[in-house]
Amino acid sequence: MPYEPVTLGFKFAVRVHHLTGRDVLVVTCPACHKSYWVATHVVYARFHAHLPLEVAAKDFVCKRCGNTRDMSWRIERATGPEFPRSA
Ligand SMILES: [Zn+2]
Repeated sequence: MPYEPVTLGFKFAVRVHHLTGRDVLVVTCPACHKSYWVATHVVYARFHAHLPLEVAAKDFVCKRCGNTRDMSWRIERATGPEFPRSA
C-alpha cells in the first residue's frame, strides 16, 4: 500500500486527534537517523487526543541510540483504491 506525506496544518497546531486510521506517524531520530513508523492507534493509546504532536514528540525516545532530543516527525497517509483521497 503506497503512502504519501500529508500536511495537516502548522506543525505546532497538529494534534493527536487529527490522525486518522490510514495515517502513520513517521518519527526520525536526528542522532542516528533511524525512522520509526508508528501506527496511529499506538499514538492514541499513549497521548491525550488533544495533545499537540509537537508536545508529544518531547516524550519520543529512540530505541536504538536512546536519543530524546529533537525527534522529528511527519505524517504519511495511505493511498489507493481502498482509501480514496476524498475520504
Ligand atoms: Zn537514534
